Amino acid sequence: MDFIPESTPTSNSQRLSKKKGNLITCPNCGNDRDFFEVAEGVILTTHYVQNADSSFTQDSDESQILGHIRFFCGECHTDLSRFHQRFVEMLF
Ligand SMILES: [Zn+2]
Repeated sequence: MDFIPESTPTSNSQRLSKKKGNLITCPNCGNDRDFFEVAEGVILTTHYVQNADSSFTQDSDESQILGHIRFFCGECHTDLSRFHQRFVEMLF
């Protein structure tokens, strides 16, 4: 299976390999392509290493989500959080 170069991060491989009936579809506008996720209460911790010349290099960062994660239609912004669990299971 070939990846489309300009593919969006999550959905194209699913769309190619899954039956239409498995798609999450916005019940309000019918969008089955663009979605976004909002995480509340995120703590972003970034690790830095200080170099000999006193500059810093970013080593890694990690985020910890304390609040709810909500899931929205990318077209009409309907709250689709009830599909979020399914979204997570289909995220690769
Ligand atoms: Zn929608």
